[in-house]
Amino acid sequence: MISSVTNPLSSDSEYDVIVAGAGPGGLTLSCFLSMRGFRVFLVDPRESLAPLGRGELIQPLGLRILEELGLLDALLSEEHVCYDKFCFFDFNGKPMMVSSYRGKGLSYEWALSIEPYLQDRLMWRMLENSPFVTLLPGGRYVAHESRENGIDVMIESREGLKTIRGKVLVGDDGRDSRLRKNLSLPGSVKEYADSYVSWSFDLPDGVSPDSAAGDPAARYYLGPGEIFFLFSTAPRKRFFLYMLKDRKFDEFISRGDVDFLARISQCIPGMGDVLVEAGFPGVSALKEWVIQKVDLKHWVKDRAVVIGDAAHATNPHVAQGRNQAMEDGRLLSVHLEAAFSGSTTSLAEELRRFETIRIERTECLHHLADEMCLVWNSDNPLIVWGRERVFRGISKTPSMNRKIVRTISGEDFLPLSLLDRARAFLKGLFASICLVIILGDWT
Ligand SMILES: Cc1cc2nc3c(=O)[nH]c(=O)nc-3n(C[C@H](O)[C@H](O)[C@H](O)COP(=O)(O)OP(=O)(O)OC[C@H]3O[C@@H](n4cnc5c(N)ncnc54)[C@H](O)[C@@H]3O)c2cc1C
Repeated sequence: MISSVTNPLSSDSEYDVIVAGAGPGGLTLSCFLSMRGFRVFLVDPRESLAPLGRGELIQPLGLRILEELGLLDALLSEEHVCYDKFCFFDFNGKPMMVSSYRGKGLSYEWALSIEPYLQDRLMWRMLENSPFVTLLPGGRYVAHESRENGIDVMIESREGLKTIRGKVLVGDDGRDSRLRKNLSLPGSVKEYADSYVSWSFDLPDGVSPDSAAGDPAARYYLGPGEIFFLFSTAPRKRFFLYMLKDRKFDEFISRGDVDFLARISQCIPGMGDVLVEAGFPGVSALKEWVIQKVDLKHWVKDRAVVIGDAAHATNPHVAQGRNQAMEDGRLLSVHLEAAFSGSTTSLAEELRRFETIRIERTECLHHLADEMCLVWNSDNPLIVWGRERVFRGISKTPSMNRKIVRTISGEDFLPLSLLDRARAFLKGLFASICLVIILGDWT
């Protein structure tokens, strides 16, 4: 359970910022604002912060933000795994590429793999200890009305409906954002064609981390219309994501457990048996993640602004959603501070500046995510064949590897050019031809 702090619904208080949603974006924003002494009201329907059945990657961008908040060391004392490289294989377990964070000039040469609720809980606790923050778990934003010098926000909780007054309303209320709907912000919200199922489990006692199935490495297996990701969130805790092409969940279930376990054993010999020993609940019990793409032309209207997935939800291939939501929170706190304390700049101006900077970056990430989905998720034999050559080519080209890693770290955005791709393809093709000539390997 997470607890509320101070009498949250006393109507005489006026807050600097009312935050709807305690996702990583809203939490980050509230932490920064409270550190600077601004009064924050944070409301979220969640009554407790619990495991999701999968982990998430906190990239160097997110690690830097946690460090700025003084929370990184505390997070590192929770169960986690640090990854300095990510390994890509084809669906027969044959290596295609290794992306290493080493020597790329990043703030951190690793990404953290962790159960996301551990980060949220840590931030919530920081806010519980702040005299500037009022927390209301078990409540939700319903509606709002802008006034001349502020905003009235209607909150629903066990105690009924109440209006809270503030200067600004920030919606970090997720991909189905109510605030976004109420503001009628222009742009598009749609679902990606493919979804993912996940399961997290403890590695059975008898399975060694030195074995193929027990290895804690971060691994992606890409096949024609099939993807299996296997990561660790602790030395003996694993989770996987498996793509459902065209969201055919019923077909996936009808193919049954035996088929699924055999498929993943094709990637990693013995993996199916390990899952069974770990208590695999069966394919029908797996949680399905339907992914949305939120692509807005504006995030701001009057005194209200959306951030995080509410503003720019994207595909998890770029492993950026949490990190970018945190960056929204960090940057918005800077602009709000300027608006609240400066006489030279207005709130409207600062919100517009924030929006312009962040839309530019998140649009780039949307393009990258779309391209990754097109290439990674494809079942087209020609694309799959070309993709495998490009992956192998990139592996042999340090400058391209650097661009990819710096982009995925969230600290930079360096997309591959057409020339890069052509070079990678030719290098990969050459490597394949050598394999055919020397080893007679046609795969
Ligand atoms: C399968 C999968 C894997 C992923 N892997 C990664 C990864 O490795 N790295 C990464 O960076 N990202 C990853 N993501 C993305 C990441 O989970 C999200 O981008 C991130 O959680 C978004 O954060 P947010 O701040 O927008 O808030 P959200 O996490 O979307 O939370 C929104 C909050 O708003 C609350 N809320 C809802 N309605 C209301 C209301 N009316 N009033 C008040 N509060 C409300 C909800 O209870 C919730 O707490 C992954 C996503 C998926 C689906």
